[in-house]
Amino acid sequence: MNEIDSIQKIISLENHLVSSTFIIDKSSLGGLGVIATKFIKKGSLIFTNKPLVVGPRVGCVKEKFCCSCFEISDECYICDKCFLFICSQNCANSQNHEKQCLIIRKIRRFKIKSDASSITLSVLIIYFNCLLLTENQKTLLENFQRNENDNSFEDLDAIYSAVTLSDEHIKFLRTAISILKINSFRISNTNKKIQLRGLYPLSSFLNHSCIPNSRNLFKKDYTMEVYASRDIKEGDEITTCYTGLLCCNPVRRLLLYNTKNFWCTCLRCSDVTEMNTNLSALHCFKENCFGIILPQSPLDINTSWVCQYCATIVPPQKIGFIQSILGSLVGTVDLSENYSEDVPVLRRLRKILPSSNYVLEVMRFSRAITIGYEDKSGLNELSESQLSLKERLCRCTLRTAAALGVGDAHLRGLLLYHLHAALAERARRHPDLYEELKSEIESTIQEASNILKDDISSPPDLEIRRQYLGPDCDKTQQERFFILDTQKH
Ligand SMILES: [Zn+2]
Ligand SMILES: [Zn+2]
Ligand SMILES: [Zn+2]
Ligand SMILES: [Zn+2]
Repeated sequence: MNEIDSIQKIISLENHLVSSTFIIDKSSLGGLGVIATKFIKKGSLIFTNKPLVVGPRVGCVKEKFCCSCFEISDECYICDKCFLFICSQNCANSQNHEKQCLIIRKIRRFKIKSDASSITLSVLIIYFNCLLLTENQKTLLENFQRNENDNSFEDLDAIYSAVTLSDEHIKFLRTAISILKINSFRISNTNKKIQLRGLYPLSSFLNHSCIPNSRNLFKKDYTMEVYASRDIKEGDEITTCYTGLLCCNPVRRLLLYNTKNFWCTCLRCSDVTEMNTNLSALHCFKENCFGIILPQSPLDINTSWVCQYCATIVPPQKIGFIQSILGSLVGTVDLSENYSEDVPVLRRLRKILPSSNYVLEVMRFSRAITIGYEDKSGLNELSESQLSLKERLCRCTLRTAAALGVGDAHLRGLLLYHLHAALAERARRHPDLYEELKSEIESTIQEASNILKDDISSPPDLEIRRQYLGPDCDKTQQERFFILDTQKH
């Protein structure tokens, strides 16, 4: 049996393949990939797969959480048998924890019994879950790609600071660590749980594209479902995006190189304007020039940049310096109080960034989906201007996503939901506008539901909104908006 056959066989033992529309085969992107053997229509389920292991994303854990259900809770206490954090008697008695408890008791020789070592072990529970795999699953694990040149095992050092391990376990955990590093998927987040990652045997064969043709969603039991986000032709490779879709070329390429060890050369990466979105553009540094600067050769990381208007050339060092400052800004600027173009930090950013730049795009996206969805204020407490800002921001990022050609990506589903929410709130306040807004209120929630339904992170009122405000509802105008009057986010 050749390598591909044996992989197919092991995977089919562990997974529920729902269609025979693909095979695992040699990929033109290198290594193996998932190739469509038939035409796959946008929106169809391609396959599902259960995770081999699930656990926290190291570095993202700030609160106490339960090692069995992964919920964040102050109720968490240390199990007196294995010293892992656990939230309740229920979780302590769960099969999940009993297995963890047993394996840790078997291998542990605690150096120091302390809160600190319990936290270390809990954060790294995914590796202990690897030790719990069956022999078949361990064979499957060994088949995952890994980066042979990467010899950093910080996580193992952390484990080692808390417990003593046998040579055999150390060897296995080294394998698990390098495999998880490049193959694990970030599981979409629900507020109550810590940020999770999982290892998905079949999905790990999905190669990367910056314009992927699939999207994935996660069920309650962390099963991953992979759907076609665009029409996929027979013979096309099914791809996923390992990074944020709104990230700009240079930043995304560097991130892929640092985390996945390859330089992407896809259509989008090869295009200076990134499908006319200009996500990487900066303002020209020359005084009084209103042009934008873009890389000269997009696939060369050390390229100079050039102004599209006055042709001034900017050396790569200068660009690199600006990019690194910008990179550290994304995610740290808190605009939750009041996003408006007048916020000082935005005004300063606008001096170097044209509005197409990804930093501003990412900020617009995160504001679009948080306005009206914060603890303090619900949609019905928003001012008219905040409401129209929400709508504008949604439309703006939707246009960018459309230009990138990412189809029905998860991001598009979220934006459609929030655009719907803004429009429906406007129609609730001004019933006379309903007729004018009706068709968009209906189509946006229907499309959002098509994309997000069943995902653990989807908005809790997604389905009730679709039922009452979607195209299939035959209730009167007043009855349809009843759900908005009574709910509070
Ligand atoms: Zn629990
Ligand atoms: Zn225990
Ligand atoms: Zn690319
Ligand atoms: Zn210029």
